[in-house]
Amino acid sequence: MNKIESMNRLTLHHKAHITVLRAEHLGMCFGVRDAINFAQSKVADHPITVMGELVHNTTVLNDLKKRGVRFEDKPEQVETKSAMITAHGASNRTRNRAKAAGLQISDATCPLVHYAHKQILELTAIGYHPIIIGRLGHVEVRGLTEDLSEYDVVLCEDEINALTAKPRFGVVAQTTQPIARVRALVKHLKSGFPNSEVRFIDTVCKPTKQRQSAAEKLARKSDMVLVVGGINSNNTHELMRTCRRFCERVHHVQGPDEILAEWLFDTDTIGITAGTSTPDELIDAVENRVYSISSLNIRKVS
Ligand code: SF4
Repeated sequence: MNKIESMNRLTLHHKAHITVLRAEHLGMCFGVRDAINFAQSKVADHPITVMGELVHNTTVLNDLKKRGVRFEDKPEQVETKSAMITAHGASNRTRNRAKAAGLQISDATCPLVHYAHKQILELTAIGYHPIIIGRLGHVEVRGLTEDLSEYDVVLCEDEINALTAKPRFGVVAQTTQPIARVRALVKHLKSGFPNSEVRFIDTVCKPTKQRQSAAEKLARKSDMVLVVGGINSNNTHELMRTCRRFCERVHHVQGPDEILAEWLFDTDTIGITAGTSTPDELIDAVENRVYSISSLNIRKVS
């Protein structure tokens, strides 16, 4: 949206006695968008199975299924000749299993996830004990760790306190972690292990940083914030946590139907942000729903 469109939008909402603000950066990132386009173009040519959840959004997934894209978790379950790795990436171990199963691989790994893989492997190769700041079990973290013989995944100070001391720690982060948390945990690691060398490579992706800092600014000036995103989306939950630090009323919605009218009572300024799997149409639908509920409320009062 350009500046003039943005101003028109705000004017429109003022007329309805409510202001809707969108975060300066929100919604689908280039990595997810490219992966979806990639799957669409591949399936138009031949049957393909995506290994894992391509995007944490049921609307987009259902659209891909309608186009014929199949989804399986493991290479051994794939029945098509061609299999696709998602934007979240995969370990070499998974790639080799797919090759051993006779699959042709289409790789939609986001370049910024590739960067995280490269950094952790390089740190390990030169003698650092690998630490990943991220959510244990998340598909991206599984991809980052599966090729390592030893590693630790941490997400809080207690988990750092429980680490065994090593001469050298090499630290990267899951790409969708808030950079403020990552930096705080690196600092904690350094102070908790003063005799260890700690080398940190910042692998949090730029779209995540932009969405996080825009969410903070948005939450500071909103009475209520709606965070639009899939239930399995890590970055959506991180946006929720950030907004809650600066605004008391924050709601997670997967779509417009989940917005409750009571959330809008006594609310002048509503902020909207969205995770990196959320398509523009869904954000528009949420905004339109807010506007239509607020109009209903106005009629009810008068
Ligand atoms: S969230 Fe970041 S790392 Fe993940 S797909 Fe999007 S741009 Fe790439």
